[in-house]
Amino acid sequence: MTEANAKSDHYVGVDFGGTKILTGIFDPHLKCIGKSKVSTKAERGASAVIDRIVRCVKDAIDECDLSLKQVKGIGLGAPGAVDPDSGKVIFAANLGWKDVALKKELEKELGVPVFLENDCNICALGVYETELKTKPKSMLGIFVGTGIGAGIIIDGKLYSGFNKTAGEVGHMVLEVGGPKCGCGNKGCFEALASRTAIFRRVLSAVKDGQKTVLTEMLGNDLKDLRSGDLRKAIRKGDKFVEKVIEESAEYIGIAVASLINVLSPEIVVLGGGVIDALEDEMMAIIVETAMDYSLNGTMNGVEIIASKTGDDAGIIGGAVLAKKETK
Ligand SMILES: [Zn+2]
Repeated sequence: MTEANAKSDHYVGVDFGGTKILTGIFDPHLKCIGKSKVSTKAERGASAVIDRIVRCVKDAIDECDLSLKQVKGIGLGAPGAVDPDSGKVIFAANLGWKDVALKKELEKELGVPVFLENDCNICALGVYETELKTKPKSMLGIFVGTGIGAGIIIDGKLYSGFNKTAGEVGHMVLEVGGPKCGCGNKGCFEALASRTAIFRRVLSAVKDGQKTVLTEMLGNDLKDLRSGDLRKAIRKGDKFVEKVIEESAEYIGIAVASLINVLSPEIVVLGGGVIDALEDEMMAIIVETAMDYSLNGTMNGVEIIASKTGDDAGIIGGAVLAKKETK
């Protein structure tokens, strides 16, 4: 090891989700130089999951021929309500976590400063800092994946609100009495338009005898269905899948319009696995629906775009956060 690279000037970004943990190692200029991934296995409980995060970080560092001593800070996005000051995950429904002192546990195991944020906040920060060259004053980042969340940037800074829970757009109720949501309410945005909602709609229609090329591609149980399969099905001319995706895009458009009415952001960036896989199929419908539903004047000059950062938004955002916090 040379003297130069023994300096602690690298950053680690961790995207910690309900199904997988992705770690990225970044050089001093925030260029990603290596990654590692493990499954979360949330059912094993908090301390087992924390061990898996530690392992994932150590693996990625080892892959890059670095040591923890060369890491200045670790930024981590966790799903759910996170208090960046206390470093606790206050509540995370899809992990079954309540009041977990994640920062403290990770710092004990890794010996490096750890900074926590909500996962969507961190993705929004990553997109804002690395993707938007014009640095708008306000941005709304909406991420559509297993669930739906958002990060709000006002005056160039993340807005987390009084209880640090701002941005939970996935639980705005868009259809009273609609499908049940993981949060216990009915008709939440995320219960109508997330990947979970899309898959549920596809599976229940197939069960009722709906014909689709998806069953030819994956078998009748659609066990390994992924967002990319929906794109393939639409491109093969599957009208049923096209309709389901249109419906989801319309709900996203309605939510975008409502949020523009409330926040008046300069730019709305859409990201997450569903948008990444189905950008061409969904974006035009989202923009058109948002125009239809927003109030007169609220959309003037507002841009609605799809993020190009893809799956790496979380790790990039984590590294951005770590760099900001250790300055
Ligand atoms: Zn909900």
